[in-house]
Order: sequence, then C-alpha cells, then structure tokens
Amino acid sequence: MLTPSLEDYLETIYLLQQNNSRDARVRDIASERSVKASSVTPALKRLSEMGYLCYEQRETIRLTEQGKIAARRVYARHVLLFQFFHDILGMDEEPAKSEACGMEHALSDEGMDRFVQFFESRLACPNEHKCQLQDDAASCNACPRHQSSLRTSIDHLEDGCSATVLRIRTTGKARQTILDMGILPNVAITRVRATKTGILIDIANHELELTNEQVKAIVVRADQMASNET
Ligand code: MN
Repeated sequence: MLTPSLEDYLETIYLLQQNNSRDARVRDIASERSVKASSVTPALKRLSEMGYLCYEQRETIRLTEQGKIAARRVYARHVLLFQFFHDILGMDEEPAKSEACGMEHALSDEGMDRFVQFFESRLACPNEHKCQLQDDAASCNACPRHQSSLRTSIDHLEDGCSATVLRIRTTGKARQTILDMGILPNVAITRVRATKTGILIDIANHELELTNEQVKAIVVRADQMASNET
C-alpha cells in the first residue's frame, strides 16, 4: 500500500517530469523534498518494486503508467484542497500548500466529489438558468457572468486552444476517473489534437489522452480567442 510519504514522492517525480522534458534525478527529488539523497533511494526502491517507477539508467527515474495514474490522483487532491484553502478560505500560499499536502492523502472519493460539487456550483449561472445542467445554451444567452457563447466542449476547441474546466457532467466511477486525472473546476487545459480514440490535452504541462466519452462529460469555458476581441 502507498503511504503518504511514498505518495509525496510520486507527486514530486510527476511534477519534475513535466512533459517528459527530462527525467527526474535523485538529487532533484531530494532537493525538492528537502531531504538527503540517501533517504530518497529506499523510497524509490520501494516504489520501483511496487511497479510505480523504473530506473531507466543508473541515476534517472521515470514513472510507469501506473505511477502516473497514482501521482495524478494525489496531485488532483492537492490542487483541489489548495484551491479551497487559498482561494476560498483566504489562506496564504505556503500554509495553504502545506494543508493540501497533508490532507491530499486522506481525502476520500466522496469527500473529493463534494469539494468538486462546491466549486461547480460556484461556477454555475448566478441567475439560476441552470445553463450548465442543460444542453440548452439559448436559455442562458442573457447571463453576463457566464458568457454562455464561450461555454463549450473540448471537442469544439481548435488545436492549441486553451480553456477552463467548469463542470464534469457525469456521475459515479466515470466522474471519479476524470477527477482523479486532475480535471477539476477552475483548472486550465489546452487541446493538443484529436487521436484515433479520443482527444489529447495538456494539463499542468503533461499530455493526457481523454476518450470521446470523457470529452463529452467535460464542460469548459474557452479562453477568449484573439478573433473575438477585434
Ligand atoms: Mn502530501
């Protein structure tokens, strides 16, 4: 079983490996976690035995697919809790990070879902047009805060365009899988391109492939495009 400490290692390695631009190294991990390199090695050995990472070379570390899934799951909770402590409760950045880092390991799926519902309702239409609950966009054309014309699906974005997640319109396991990928209200994503089986997006400088089914469930607000401003 993953302990909080091992989960923190996975999270650190995940963040060091942004877009696979470079592999994580023991000394980077040690400095990131403020520990000695000698205490990093046993943790990496354990994670490697559990199938979460592999040493490609002597000094470099790379997460396996299983490792990436586990790391994203912890990081998603971190992002959500940080948002709550910082943006909602008004805590300073550093203490909010520290609260999030402590609680991210204990937050259950249901607890996470309730936090997400809270943020979804804050992003919902203030005029109670239920515009995110229905596909009927016309009912909300008068809603100024919401800019319903920009509310869309990743399917309708052009390659290279970015958007902010507003809502995950599905329930149960399908919803939890999306949340565990870090696709949460207020999080920025960029569409990379369509693939044979879905759409490739960029989230927190990592590429991630979504199935068409998942794409359909994610409601986003497109960032204002240059052509709309002129
Ligand atoms: Mn932590």
